[in-house]
Amino acid sequence: ITILGIETSCDETGIAVVRDGELLADVTATSMDEYARYGGIIPEIASRAHLQTMVPTLDAALEKAGVELSEIDAIAVTAGPGLIGSLTVGVSAAKALALALDKPLYGINHIIGHLCVDELVDGPFPEHFIGLVVSGGHSSILRVGNIATDVEELGGTLDDAAGEAFDKVGRLLGLPYPGGPHIDRLSKEGDRDAIRFPRGLTAGKDKVRHQYDFSFSGLKTAVARYVEGLEDRGEEVPTADVAAGFSEAINDVLTMKALNACETFGYDTLVVGGGFSANSRLRELAAERAAERGITVRIPPIRYCTDNGAMVASLGYELVRNGIEPSGLGITVDTGMDLNKIVMR
Ligand code: ATP
Ligand code: FE
Ligand code: MG
Repeated sequence: ITILGIETSCDETGIAVVRDGELLADVTATSMDEYARYGGIIPEIASRAHLQTMVPTLDAALEKAGVELSEIDAIAVTAGPGLIGSLTVGVSAAKALALALDKPLYGINHIIGHLCVDELVDGPFPEHFIGLVVSGGHSSILRVGNIATDVEELGGTLDDAAGEAFDKVGRLLGLPYPGGPHIDRLSKEGDRDAIRFPRGLTAGKDKVRHQYDFSFSGLKTAVARYVEGLEDRGEEVPTADVAAGFSEAINDVLTMKALNACETFGYDTLVVGGGFSANSRLRELAAERAAERGITVRIPPIRYCTDNGAMVASLGYELVRNGIEPSGLGITVDTGMDLNKIVMR
């Protein structure tokens, strides 16, 4: 079975070809370079960029895979969550291809794709596992059985996503956009125990009621207050220590709650995905703590953590392999697609 995967939920145009669970090609174009001067993504610019890069990216992916369009058995495309204009360009292109080739179309959930891409690298998933998806828009813990049919969101962030919090604190520390990778780099030069920042929803009633939820906006405020306090007194801000302490607070909570879910459900595998899973401290801490508890952690290489076509093709392959009914050509996009939903109907 040969699957074409198309990803356009945000600023990356990603196109990939997966054949029988093997990745043949994965090509990505991005409009991210345009946003540094705005300090954030401009949706209209991203939509137009997808329109410009769609066909060249498709041609490059097919050529790299050594596959003709006529050999494609099914088309998978991100139907949500994401930016409405960006999603619309990808879904429209996928509909046109499905119609022209007379092949089934699957509108898939981008967040489930962030987990599913790991199969292409680390092999088939176990019978069940806990998924931690951490990205620019999401920080959620999921219980996953068969990834084509059985996904349940156990909890998620009540306010900011992990990547979003990093980007906001990056701005606060005067780092370029997106701040995530910059804070990651800076935090390696700092002392992670120098400043203790709050860990949201980990104590008292919240710990019980919000077992699998996160809250990072209080942390963000605490960092802002700390930095402003020093500036008001005319003292120098120890940026590396702030970055390290802030990063530690987020990664401490993420890894603790995800591994607790593994233990509660009796699952021996944690799969981590999404742009924020590129974070070096998250990888380190997850590996360290999982080893202590006898849990296996699977995190794909960094190029498959950020948005790409391979994640879409991988989930598309699972859907076809499991005999799931296609979405059909009538689908629209869903900017806030529910994480319990794998395929768009
Ligand atoms: P979603 O997947 O929820 O729709 P998205 O697709 O916009 O959101 P991704 O592209 O998966 O998000 O991830 C981008 C986010 O990852 C940004 O917030 C970025 O700062 C963050 N990020 C990337 N690399 C790192 C890193 N090394 N450390 C921390 N954050 C990082
Ligand atoms: Fe993403
Ligand atoms: Mg992105």
